[in-house]
Amino acid sequence: MKFKANTRRRALEYEKDLVQQWKKNKTFEKSIDQRPADNSYVFYDGPPFISGVPHHGTLLSSIVKDAVPRYQTMKGKRVERVWGWDCHGLPAERYTEKKLGLSSREEVIEYGIEKYIIACRENMVQTSSLWEDTVDRVGRWVDFKGAYKTMDKEYMESVWWAFKELYEKGKIYEGEKVLMYCTLDATPLSKAEVTMDAGAYQDVTDPSVFTKFKLADEDVSLLAWTTTPWTLPANTALAVNKDFDYVEVELDGERLILAKDLVEKVLTDAKHQALEYTIIRTMKGEELVGKSYEPLLGEDRGANAHKIWHADYVSADDGSGIVHIAPAYGEEDFAMAKREKIPVVHVIDENGDYTETEWKGENVWAINKTIAKTLHERGTVWKIDYIRHSYPHCHRCGTKLMYRAHPSWFMDIDGQREQMLEQNGDINWFPSHVKKGRFAKTIEQAPDWNLSRDRFWATAMPVWKGVDKSGKEHVKVIGSYAELKELSGVELEDYHRPWVDDVTFDIDGIKYTRTDKVMDSWFEAGSMPFAQFHYPFENKQKFEANFPGDFIVEYIGQVRAWFYYMHSMSVALFGENSFKNVIVTGNVAGNDGRKMSKSYGNYTDPNELMDKFSADSLRFLLLQSPLLNGEDFALQDKDVGDVARKLSMIWNMYDFFTMYAEVDGWEFTGDLSDPSEQLENPLDQWIVSRVHQLNHEVEKHMDIYDIPNAIDPILPFIEDASNWYVRRSRRRFWKSGDDTDKNNAYRTLHYVLVQLAQIVAPFTPFLAEELYQKLTGGESVHLLDWPQAGHVNELVVRDMETVREYVNQSLSIRAKERVKIRQPLASVTVPTLGEFVNFEDILTEELNVKKVIRGKELSLDLAITPSLKREGLSREVVRHVQSARKAAGLNVDDRIKLSLQTDDDELVSAIKEHASTIAAETLADKIGDAQYAHEATVKVEGVDLIVTLEKS
Ligand SMILES: [Zn+2]
Repeated sequence: MKFKANTRRRALEYEKDLVQQWKKNKTFEKSIDQRPADNSYVFYDGPPFISGVPHHGTLLSSIVKDAVPRYQTMKGKRVERVWGWDCHGLPAERYTEKKLGLSSREEVIEYGIEKYIIACRENMVQTSSLWEDTVDRVGRWVDFKGAYKTMDKEYMESVWWAFKELYEKGKIYEGEKVLMYCTLDATPLSKAEVTMDAGAYQDVTDPSVFTKFKLADEDVSLLAWTTTPWTLPANTALAVNKDFDYVEVELDGERLILAKDLVEKVLTDAKHQALEYTIIRTMKGEELVGKSYEPLLGEDRGANAHKIWHADYVSADDGSGIVHIAPAYGEEDFAMAKREKIPVVHVIDENGDYTETEWKGENVWAINKTIAKTLHERGTVWKIDYIRHSYPHCHRCGTKLMYRAHPSWFMDIDGQREQMLEQNGDINWFPSHVKKGRFAKTIEQAPDWNLSRDRFWATAMPVWKGVDKSGKEHVKVIGSYAELKELSGVELEDYHRPWVDDVTFDIDGIKYTRTDKVMDSWFEAGSMPFAQFHYPFENKQKFEANFPGDFIVEYIGQVRAWFYYMHSMSVALFGENSFKNVIVTGNVAGNDGRKMSKSYGNYTDPNELMDKFSADSLRFLLLQSPLLNGEDFALQDKDVGDVARKLSMIWNMYDFFTMYAEVDGWEFTGDLSDPSEQLENPLDQWIVSRVHQLNHEVEKHMDIYDIPNAIDPILPFIEDASNWYVRRSRRRFWKSGDDTDKNNAYRTLHYVLVQLAQIVAPFTPFLAEELYQKLTGGESVHLLDWPQAGHVNELVVRDMETVREYVNQSLSIRAKERVKIRQPLASVTVPTLGEFVNFEDILTEELNVKKVIRGKELSLDLAITPSLKREGLSREVVRHVQSARKAAGLNVDDRIKLSLQTDDDELVSAIKEHASTIAAETLADKIGDAQYAHEATVKVEGVDLIVTLEKS
């Protein structure tokens, strides 16, 4: 194979071209099919939400999801990669609601569930080609055609199977708990999904009220404190701390009771001025416990309501030392109510509207402040303060969340907590601190998982209930469509609501109907490892052979979400973890370090960035960044540009290689073997050893999923190859003297570039492919195995390191002393002269010194004699002539006629003295004072020199 100069293409051109070429040649499919089925590497793709838009964050995970499988493929593994779509749950519903102009659960029901579900499905089918285009553009190989969707009938059946398995194992139960609840979406949410991303907790100002609860049969009121006045209508108890001191005070003719330590803080006016009061008596909280008080709004809540209880959690830090209890709307309140059999009263419906009191029909968030004000005007509320506090909001619609006792279905996490922690021990986390940090903490603190949602568009919860004659409730959980058909005789096209709601059946004369709840979409996402295969209904062997998965990667928010839920489910179902290796990435931030946001204008669109600099450089930058250590990273365009520039040094080497290979007619014979055996020149031996070192480093770190450290040595290697190997070998390519040495130089540079193409293939797949194809004519670098790293000649490597260190130190001396490198110096003194590398040659050339002396420590003779000065001037002249050649558009091997004219005596004698060197360096046949076609006037050390030249 012959080479041609100037055949390098722009990144934008070859990247777009290779996407098409790979498709046409089915290179991705081949890369899988070529590998044995019994040596698979299993990657689980966390499916993005189907109507989401690709952004830098999703690109980041796509890049990692490509780099690792490409690497594993090169290591001989069969890595199937199938795309998945997350289609269910609140994000899908909100998306549809918006399109239909609906804004709450109520409006959905009014619109009609059937029409609504049909619209949901339509929206989820109409995916744009946006994802595929972007994923192609970034170079990710993944099978889009075989993509699974969580709304597929088969997928949902596997979810049913899992639900039933867990129910039968006793791991799923129905209960009532206080949960975070969104009134607009009318569903409880899990804490994990709310806190997955920052921003759910927002600072808001709320009224905090001191309310008077009048003791029964006494003309004294307890002053209770709450920051949620909207819960006052649901009050059924008060709590004090029995060990605290309380006081009864008289103030404006009223008698009030509150904690002694809080009197001064509480008894102030609106301007925070102290009020006048008299302490009547002091008592222990104990004395208050068991007393009754009058219902706040006159509504008697029945036996055991309206009493004072002791609670340990009542503190004297804020409030009044007396706590208002509304069991339906607080976790601790609810627990106490269950324990003490205090009535749990609901006054708000699922949409957040009051069902009773004078505020009936009003929305809780709209009326909250009004309730406080109204009760204040009536004297029921003694004082209103306003507090600023952090309060949770719905991550989907932004509505304030309430805590609310709600009947739901739960998965028992507590019972398997230890096993989950133990199984985490087998997972390799990168970065490793997540294992015992965030992930273990999540498991340790997780409440039982609230699995049910009171929504529409999700896998229907497969629970049917019936009531027998005695009024006892019976539950039947269904684990497959066949089972449902056997009982009901019904087979459905679509098992979504509302159709599945209509399926009923009788067992022993009891009629069963489905509960109207649907599954938490995280239960569906957690089912992905088996549900994507429709396990256990199909692909039983395939799933079992491929479980647990080898690798997953997502951003840090998924530690508490997808990773956690998948782990919970696999431990519950299969008794083990579901993935062996996991990379946790940080968040890609905008160029100002803030969250990327259109309104901040703090980032460039990824497609624009890739078109400008190349997809490879974006990939490389992100993979090398702290993001792969789970840390956040501010993406700057200029950093992408910087990487692009450094990577382009590969193309400069390619240009150099092809330019000379064309001139010399050097041909590639198909031999890609390690040339080390035949190499005699230490430069060749060194660069080949360096590429083997690089191979080792990349492989070592990729094998432990440490991508930043795998990538780290790549740019320094390119720098070594370009700025040391190629630069120092330059003359070897154009000297026609020693054919063996020249041939070895070609062979070495070709070998090293092809090796480099293979090593960077997982990270910069386009550049690697383009380079590989251009240098070998081969089909694809991505069909090759990871190269076997050859022997590293440590002695040559060490010598080369030493001499380069001498060069660097001497150059900094020159720089510090402001002596140009073109000015020759008499000598350099260095401690060693090298065993396997000839230091003298390198040092005289690199440092422009006449002599290398061995001495105790490194030093440079900086004295410039008149003769050295003249030689320095002649070097300046050479440089100017070279630029003049370039300006005249001559080829590197064109010979020229040259004239040099100046009035300066010193320069004249410098030119005369070094005429033959000048002529040789500039390929001038002779130097005269004729006038040639191209003329340039230049300054040499402040003196005018007229250069004229033309092609001979
Ligand atoms: Zn919401």
